[in-house]
Amino acid sequence: MRIIDLRSDTVTKPTPAMRRAMAEAEVGDDVYSEDPTVHRLEALAAEMLGLEAGLFMPSGTMTNQVALMLHLQRGQEVIAPKGAHIYEYEPGSLSVLAGGVIRLVEAPYGVPDPEAVRSAIHTSPHQAPTGLIALENTHNSAGGTVVPLEAGRAIQQVAEEAGLPTHLDGARLFNAATALGVAPAELAKGFRTVSICLSKGLGAPVGSVLLMPKDYRAEAWRYRKMLGGGMRQAGVLAAAGILALTEGPKGLARDHQMARALAEGLLRMHVEVDLNSVQTNMVYAHVPRAADFVERLRQAGVLANAMGSRVRFVTHRDLADEDIPAALERIESALHVV
Ligand SMILES: *Cc1c(COP(=O)(O)O)cnc(C)c1O
Repeated sequence: MRIIDLRSDTVTKPTPAMRRAMAEAEVGDDVYSEDPTVHRLEALAAEMLGLEAGLFMPSGTMTNQVALMLHLQRGQEVIAPKGAHIYEYEPGSLSVLAGGVIRLVEAPYGVPDPEAVRSAIHTSPHQAPTGLIALENTHNSAGGTVVPLEAGRAIQQVAEEAGLPTHLDGARLFNAATALGVAPAELAKGFRTVSICLSKGLGAPVGSVLLMPKDYRAEAWRYRKMLGGGMRQAGVLAAAGILALTEGPKGLARDHQMARALAEGLLRMHVEVDLNSVQTNMVYAHVPRAADFVERLRQAGVLANAMGSRVRFVTHRDLADEDIPAALERIESALHVV
């Protein structure tokens, strides 16, 4: 039986074209800033996102954490939407690395109310002073939901008025851009730093890029080195990253259609899904005893992640057209086993 893996878009494997590009990549020692392919990737990412400089790192956790180190002084607070990856899935990194604390604001579908953000800002010396406002687009734990352009602008406005920098966790920024039909640069515009992942739906095996103003780069480079993220002939990875940026986005609309079809199929089986949250390549279903259900799914040949009381399904480029109908059949059979 073919296993249908819906745990994450990170399970995608490099395409034959990526493997060829990796094999043929021109490389050098990137810790000496001598890898031409890494330089090409960083320049391409900066150009596509409309920021001045890029820095290639092994993971999105590292690009986010380096951004937090750039923005925060010890004891400062970052305001972020509830469920933010920088807090929920980067295990205590914020406190250890940047010495920061977090203030989460309610964010239905990943979109915080600008007034709630404004009133969360601390200026009193009795409180941890706010050092940064962060957003996440798409917002993973809210359902892979899109933060619309105007919503991002409204938060940027609040930050600007308070004299605060902004960071965008854009691990799936290309999914958001695809869903909105806008260029990724539109969604990156106005953020001081932006983190993107090449290894999610875009299909690269490894890698993330932090985009920033050019006068931030030397400090970011130092923090990356401090964290052990200096990589040598990293052009082997960057070569795949370049194809992820140039070819990867084309496949995302299909991923989104598959998620929609999956969600609609689940609803037909009376599985609880909030269709309003299904905006990109994720479907969160509310199922009693989610962990047991995920185990029954595994036995039926469908992999998904249990997250608290929810089950997360993620669609991606390595799925075949027939995988969604097949997954739905298997899910239905797993629902009826007691
Ligand atoms: C995946 C992800 C990251 C980075 O994760 P890594 O596994 O460290 O690359 C950051 N933010 C969000 C929202 C993510 O989904």
